[in-house]
Amino acid sequence: MPDRATDHITLKSRQIPVIADCDVVVVGAGPAGLSAAVSAARNGCSVTLVERYHHLGGMASGGMVLVLDDMVNGGSEIVTTGIVTEFVERMEAQDGAVYPPPQDCLKSWEMWQKWSRWGCIDFHKTGMPQPIIHAVAFDPDTWKRVSLDLVGEAKINLRLHSWFSEAIIDGGKVAGIVCQTKLGRQAIRCSMVVDATGDLDLAASAGADFIKGQYIVTTVFRLAGVDTERAEKFEYENPQEYKKLDRRARRVIGGAWGMWWLKTPIPGIVWCNCPHMAGYDGLSPESMVAAEYEGRERMMNLLAFARENLPGFENARMLGAAEQIGVRQTRLLQGEYVVTRDDVKSRRHFADSVCRGRDYYTPYRALLPRGIDNLIVAGRHYSCESEAQKSSREIPPCMAQGEAAGVAVSIALDENVALRDVNAKKIQRQMRAQGADPGDVPSSNALVEQPPAAE
Ligand SMILES: Cc1cc2nc3c(=O)[nH]c(=O)nc-3n(C[C@H](O)[C@H](O)[C@H](O)COP(=O)(O)OP(=O)(O)OC[C@H]3O[C@@H](n4cnc5c(N)ncnc54)[C@H](O)[C@@H]3O)c2cc1C
Repeated sequence: MPDRATDHITLKSRQIPVIADCDVVVVGAGPAGLSAAVSAARNGCSVTLVERYHHLGGMASGGMVLVLDDMVNGGSEIVTTGIVTEFVERMEAQDGAVYPPPQDCLKSWEMWQKWSRWGCIDFHKTGMPQPIIHAVAFDPDTWKRVSLDLVGEAKINLRLHSWFSEAIIDGGKVAGIVCQTKLGRQAIRCSMVVDATGDLDLAASAGADFIKGQYIVTTVFRLAGVDTERAEKFEYENPQEYKKLDRRARRVIGGAWGMWWLKTPIPGIVWCNCPHMAGYDGLSPESMVAAEYEGRERMMNLLAFARENLPGFENARMLGAAEQIGVRQTRLLQGEYVVTRDDVKSRRHFADSVCRGRDYYTPYRALLPRGIDNLIVAGRHYSCESEAQKSSREIPPCMAQGEAAGVAVSIALDENVALRDVNAKKIQRQMRAQGADPGDVPSSNALVEQPPAAE
């Protein structure tokens, strides 16, 4: 009988079936994990991809984060290429992605009216109109389909409905992982692991150093039945009246960026990246339940206001909140190098840069924990300060990190070396060969303090 006088129980250890044995296990099939798995598999590794939910995409699909950002440096230099470009082209071929052609990427009121409600604006620039830039509005279900295609084509062993629970440690290395499934616990053996859970679940379980960060959370949602043409016409023909209404709408939702509604590739359906709610812990079930209640109440209040007051929204209906609550930041690795806010803001270039986003560079060392030879991370929990993460965590750079991590594990396996001993120059070369930009060549606006990586 369990002792009810204590606040814990002790379980007997049990035998767990090994259901796969492979070169690389990637945990988490969000933007970073998908790219890591595809990149590793294309470089010859046998890969198992583990995901807790029934779909691929993480925040991009289940979280309904529907604009790809941070893809451009200085207005026109596209810096997230490789798998990101391939992904966008595949979604576009299925009518699931919309973005401005290069000739529309200008600072003009005409282009603002054409593209701003797609979210293709440079949010970092002040002064109106903000320039139109290469950013991509997409459909979440298309994201899931394209992800499945890529995984299937690369012959990745996909394990959905499998919640990572524990790292298996043997001699200072991660020898495999344990997942919880409907069939009980299952183990997977491997030589290398990629943590792409976004919350550092795997690396934390393996004993890596981390800090606990926090940022606003959002119950993102979509509205159907919106006459977007009428809404835009009203906005552009009655700017003062619109501004007043928009201010009221943002007070009702209680926390939103400037553009709280954006168009999606499906006519009449708009994406609402709000409400923003502070003080919630993305790792705590109690906190997430409270956020779910608060977010849903706020979104229904906004819908009522919009239906009553905003031209174009008269017949709007709640299509639904995202399956996953929008958690931006939890655990952050404190690895071989910790990227600082100053690194991001000053556009510091690193000799061992293996990927980049907007105008910042990510050193290989920021993907590596200290003291664990065969674990690498990719995605929003990479090694950085909390303030640095807030401006370097968008989907495309997370995908670029994943692509670099996939290359790194394949080189480490080929050369039979620890991940820490992989030469960054080799990762850079392979990233270029795959069509990705590793950030090895600093752009003219970068802060360059170190010579390029040695062979
Ligand atoms: C509300 C919101 C708005 C945003 N807006 C934008 C935007 O406009 N543009 C943009 O580019 N970026 C935006 N971002 C940022 C971006 O969405 C994320 O930073 C990005 O998705 C991170 O990718 P990731 O792969 O690292 O993590 P995630 O997308 O979080 O994916 C992690 C994956 O791991 C899985 N996982 C987690 N734990 C486990 C486990 N224990 N076992 C198995 N699987 C697990 C998850 O289910 C998920 O599939 C926004 C984020 C939020 C929350």
